[in-house]
Amino acid sequence: MPTVRSPTELTAMFRAQGLKVTPQRQAIFRALHASSVHPTADTVYDTVRSAMPTISLRTVYQTLNDLTAMGEIASVDLGTGSTRFDPDTAPHHHLVCNDCGRIDDLHADFPGVTVPVDDEHGFEVAATEIVFRGRCRVCAQLPR
Ligand SMILES: [Zn+2]
Ligand SMILES: [Zn+2]
Repeated sequence: MPTVRSPTELTAMFRAQGLKVTPQRQAIFRALHASSVHPTADTVYDTVRSAMPTISLRTVYQTLNDLTAMGEIASVDLGTGSTRFDPDTAPHHHLVCNDCGRIDDLHADFPGVTVPVDDEHGFEVAATEIVFRGRCRVCAQLPR
């Protein structure tokens, strides 16, 4: 499973781009690196704030946006109400739990899923990303 680059690597990359690396940003790098996949900005903020109470949500957003612009993470909207940040920037599918909002990656091929070439849309497919909605393993075991 791909993870975000190490805090040391990200620090070097930010500096190479002429971006300032503050202790706050380094705390965000650490939180991302340790994170399970697909955190929201709020999740990252909560994690970092426990160690660094003065950090602002704005700083978290800025850093996440910079990382997205650098192609280190992808920002994805999976219909859960908030943008999720994904360390896997290659096309893949997602399993979204309707009950707890958990998001898992799914790497699988669906060869039949495509826009027919003679389709009237004349659409050239570059990537296919499918969102499956349902209940995750944990939620499926809870009584409704
Ligand atoms: Zn769930
Ligand atoms: Zn993903």
